[in-house]
Amino acid sequence: MPIYEYHCPCCDLDFERLRPLSAADQSAACPKCQSESRRRVSQFASFSRGSSGELSAVGGGGSNCGGCSGSSCSTCH
Ligand SMILES: [Zn+2]
Repeated sequence: MPIYEYHCPCCDLDFERLRPLSAADQSAACPKCQSESRRRVSQFASFSRGSSGELSAVGGGGSNCGGCSGSSCSTCH
């Protein structure tokens, strides 16, 4: 199962959850306050951080793109 990152707006807490792909878009309960937390799209944050255009440095194999099942979308090159 892939690991997804979530962010709780109440505690300003980031946490990770192992979830099946089918539940990737669902919110997760915050481990502290149990409120619904939205999934962070960390891939995009990584992309925007690099200003040199070296997209291949992120993720390595290109198979961990959160936006698609493989390496076929525009964000995973
Ligand atoms: Zn919380």
